[in-house]
Amino acid sequence: MEDKNGNVTQSQKNDSPWNKDHKVTGPVKHEPLFNMNPKQVKFSLWFFFFTLLTIMVINASLGQMKQTDKTISFSEFKQKIENGEITKVRITPKLYYGTSETASNQSKKEAPTIIYQAVPINDPTFVPLMDSHKVDYSAAAEKNPFLMNFLLSWILPFAFIYIIWKLMAGKMGNLGSSVMNFGRNKSMIVAETDTGVKFDDVAGAEESIEELKEVVDFLENPDKYTAIGGKIPKGVLLVGSPGTGKTLLARAVAGEAKVPFFRMSGADFVEMFVGVGAARVRDLFHQAREKSPCIIFIDELDAIGKSRVNVAGGNDEREQTLNQLLVEMDGFDSRSGVILLGATNRPEILDPALMRPGRFDRQVVMDRPDINGREAILKIHVKDVKLADSVDLNKIARATPGFVGADLANIINEAALMAVRAGRKEVRQEDLEEAIEKTVAGLQKKNRLINPKERKIVAHHETGHALTAAFTPEADPVQKITIVPRGISALGYTLQTPTEDRFLMSKEELFCKIDVLLGGRAAEQLIFGEISTGAANDLTRATDIARSMITEYGMSDKFKNMVLTKRGSQFLGPAAQPGMQREYSEATQQYIDEEVARILEERYVRVFNLLKEKKPVLISIAEKLLEVETLEADEFYKMAGVKA
Ligand code: ADP
Ligand code: MG
Ligand code: ZN
Repeated sequence: MEDKNGNVTQSQKNDSPWNKDHKVTGPVKHEPLFNMNPKQVKFSLWFFFFTLLTIMVINASLGQMKQTDKTISFSEFKQKIENGEITKVRITPKLYYGTSETASNQSKKEAPTIIYQAVPINDPTFVPLMDSHKVDYSAAAEKNPFLMNFLLSWILPFAFIYIIWKLMAGKMGNLGSSVMNFGRNKSMIVAETDTGVKFDDVAGAEESIEELKEVVDFLENPDKYTAIGGKIPKGVLLVGSPGTGKTLLARAVAGEAKVPFFRMSGADFVEMFVGVGAARVRDLFHQAREKSPCIIFIDELDAIGKSRVNVAGGNDEREQTLNQLLVEMDGFDSRSGVILLGATNRPEILDPALMRPGRFDRQVVMDRPDINGREAILKIHVKDVKLADSVDLNKIARATPGFVGADLANIINEAALMAVRAGRKEVRQEDLEEAIEKTVAGLQKKNRLINPKERKIVAHHETGHALTAAFTPEADPVQKITIVPRGISALGYTLQTPTEDRFLMSKEELFCKIDVLLGGRAAEQLIFGEISTGAANDLTRATDIARSMITEYGMSDKFKNMVLTKRGSQFLGPAAQPGMQREYSEATQQYIDEEVARILEERYVRVFNLLKEKKPVLISIAEKLLEVETLEADEFYKMAGVKA
């Protein structure tokens, strides 16, 4: 289909206005005109503009020459004819040009010819005057501006109409026109045949690498999978904060599988002209299919993949590009040997359509590295750096909580530069420490790092959640606690695994959920005597559960088995919530509010007392967490003194 399309536009090009222009404006050999290959056709467009520019320049410089001539008044002009200075006159509708013969004689002795110009006045005595002084006069049409006029009045409008027509055609989805080649030429998609990056070059991301090994295996032995009809992921989305090594990992996949690597950034697709981005997507997939097996990597996918729903007004160009991407993704099946990798640091804003089965159906999360990960990353980056014996990378890893791979690579680089500046041959521990300080200052400006005090609060907060869960019989067991910041807002988290899929929950189990949510704030109050804003999300969720217990599940003492609903217009969506009509009285509303407050208060007191009892354990676990940043289930339960 595409090829056919392409050919159609190709043949259109041969009798397009562009080629006619060549005949008018510049010498063009006829042979290549008729068997032009597509590249020459693309080129001809630039050739046209180049010719146009040249003509304009020539015209302008001709005008310049005229201006060096002397412009005099009409009476002076007549005067000069009378006293014989002007012996030759050229008459044009706009100007009279008088050449001074004496001057032109002098010109042989290197004086410049003087040409007098005068704006004509309708003077019937003028011709007789010239006759009587034997002036050689002639009339001429203005020659020079003719070509320009012709261009301006004929060619340019056609060219303009042609461009607009092409753009419109592009908008309607019929792309691949020559105008689009503007965009395409600029961003030639070149595949890296061998990225040279291996999984060993990516540290602190073992789990992510493990997940991508299957992709590599598939690219290496596709037959193994296709023979049994196995389903291969078509697209894998790498999700993680900036600098965690998503791009690096994608390149490593290509490097391990030794396949070509097509990389484009989402921003490359978003262009000024509507349709260019979509054309590029098509071009990209077209090329990739020819080179399969290979990897297409779309970096910063969010630039094109923003949800179409939430964007007011919409962006035609981006939407079209996204649509084209979806079409292309559906158009190839994984047996073609093309694997799509995407990367984003904002998965939440991506259009859900991108995540549907058969598209980016798998997600691999690139977490910020923990202490061990950071040490491993540092080790990779110091490979080519001469280090003094005193350097302790583990200490550096300890001093850099919240740093991502890119920050660490940067630190090594900074330190090396500092050593060079100091005229030393090796990097010392002090260089590294100074580099950290510099980077920390920069990162704190960007609000990406938490300070030591906040870290301490987060550690106790998370331990509070985890301990509450451990000592609440009905709660889901703790799987992992970490204070490595994740995403934009979460400073740390406690992961619980539900023991089984639950659809039905008892009143007691709901209370347990509330307890665990309140555990974070209770721990903060217990240890620091004050509370922080860090618990806001926990509190929202706890409040929601308590409210639902009363209004939806009929679990209150007063309204047993009764649902207290609100009714409102569905069409206005969630935004209309405040305007919803409740189907109960003001008094009931007050009761609900009071009940929610009572439940939360009661549970909070219980949790607080529980943690108070376990205060020493809480502190020791929090301290351990500050040191190692992540605790797995076994270690946590061992420290808490409970059986998992
Ligand atoms: P992202 O694409 O997630 O923003 P990049 O892959 O561009 O991050 O990382 C930038 C640089 O930081 C890499 O080229 C590499 O030098 C370094 N880096 C980042 N993460 C790691 C890692 N996990 N292991 C080794 N180096 C890393
Ligand atoms: Mg990147
Ligand atoms: Zn919390």
